[in-house]
Amino acid sequence: MLPISEIFVSLQGEGPFSGRRALFIRFFGCNLRCSWCDTKYSYYGKPKVLEDLDVVDEFIILTGGEPTLYQDILRNFLTKAKSKGSEILVETNGTVLLKDHFVDYVDYFSISPKLSNAGVKYRVDVVKKNVEKLKIKEKFYYIKFPVMWEDDLNEVKKMVEYFGVEKSKVWLQPINNERIDYWWDIAVREGYNLSIQLHKFVSKP
Ligand code: SF4
Repeated sequence: MLPISEIFVSLQGEGPFSGRRALFIRFFGCNLRCSWCDTKYSYYGKPKVLEDLDVVDEFIILTGGEPTLYQDILRNFLTKAKSKGSEILVETNGTVLLKDHFVDYVDYFSISPKLSNAGVKYRVDVVKKNVEKLKIKEKFYYIKFPVMWEDDLNEVKKMVEYFGVEKSKVWLQPINNERIDYWWDIAVREGYNLSIQLHKFVSKP
């Protein structure tokens, strides 16, 4: 059984696939409770519970909530989607260990580590293991940091070094699109990328 928050077609609003049309499947449930979370409806309230997913699209984004909580149950859906040629992107907070069979079916991973601005206990050791697995399997992945305070940059630098990822894979994402101009200059200076949440300009999910 799959707990679903919502399924909809829209444009990806953030990260390297910004502007690309996609089918979004938002899973219900998350193992974290970030203070500034903008999808609290994906773990409070009641999910739709589906036996399986019967949707298909050229580009499918599994998001949440935390979609990696459902890696085993998703096996059937991912097998079907891949046999129909779908490209699959998973958006994860990175704190659930990725399983081999799941990684094999997914094309792209967006890992979003939480800094102290989120006010949650965050498992960087698990993220490191996940990044190592994605490197071994030569998967396309990027690391997206929600940033708010100036001190966040020091945390970003420490995590980037600990995970052993190239700067070109790092995206800074200003929380609620606040102080975009400030983070723009930081990204340019430090050699990172900047993710502006386009969907928030048009009040889309
Ligand atoms: S990990 Fe994502 S969905 Fe979960 S609480 Fe944090 S921001 Fe919200």
